[in-house]
Amino acid sequence: SARWSLAGMTALVTGGTRGIGFAVVEELAELGAAVHTCSRNEVELNQRLQEWSAKGFNVTGSVCDASSRPQRQQLLEKVSTVFNGKLNILINNVGTNIRKPTTEYTAEEYSMLMATNLESCYHLCQLAHPLLKASGAGSIVFISSVAGLVHLFSGSVYGATKGAINQLARNLACEWAKDNIRVNSVAPWYTKTSLVEHLLSDKQFMDGVVSRTPLGRPAEANEVSSMVAFLCLPAASYITGQTIAVDGGFTVNGFP
Ligand code: NDP
Repeated sequence: SARWSLAGMTALVTGGTRGIGFAVVEELAELGAAVHTCSRNEVELNQRLQEWSAKGFNVTGSVCDASSRPQRQQLLEKVSTVFNGKLNILINNVGTNIRKPTTEYTAEEYSMLMATNLESCYHLCQLAHPLLKASGAGSIVFISSVAGLVHLFSGSVYGATKGAINQLARNLACEWAKDNIRVNSVAPWYTKTSLVEHLLSDKQFMDGVVSRTPLGRPAEANEVSSMVAFLCLPAASYITGQTIAVDGGFTVNGFP
């Protein structure tokens, strides 16, 4: 039924060539949306676009470093052209990390993480607002992290950016409700992607993740993308301002 379909809708997913963003592109396209995505690597982007075209998905893409203000402006100009000024869905997925103790972050590392994980999302929301409003029914989803809900040894700057994203979802949900734009945040726990490959391939680290996770394993990217897609469906039309953990029970697990 139409409640469980994205047919006729348009979506922008940042960072769609690998990991969670890749899974979100496929999930939204499978539900019928026309999707535009971006990454910094043109070769990999073109490879993905070919694969999606072969699968029959309606996906376009452009090279964009989401941490660059002028490149974000260019991206939204492109999106506006491709989708005739109307965007139903914005998925703020791009994010990265540098793991270290708080006392060791340089000013450059702090700025890079803030620019990539927080400022990029904030500015893309500003740029996309007129397009989301024009669509008549807009949905923004931030890819946050459980690191924005509880302490993880993944670093305090990362945690601060993800916590800020969760609050941004609450603010925009209230501010833009009048424009029929819903805003939610999805907070995954460890998910098998290129971002954390080096951690999960370390047996001791993986054993630690497994022992703290009630479901006893990290997530697959498509177990996160399904929640992201759900939040964009007409079926989720009364859900806004929420942060939803996709974490195998990690954040509700007390002392083992
Ligand atoms: P990956 O590093 O596996 O994939 C990131 C994707 O984004 C790639 O397509 C990459 O392409 C693109 N990308 C990265 N930086 C930029 C940039 N500056 N501009 C444009 N594109 C960019 O990451 P994940 O899929 O693991 O992470 C996605 C999101 O999920 C992040 O926000 C992360 O914080 C969050 N998350 C991940 C978890 C995990 O365990 N994996 C857990 C919790 C949250 P390219 O490098 O070519 O630009």
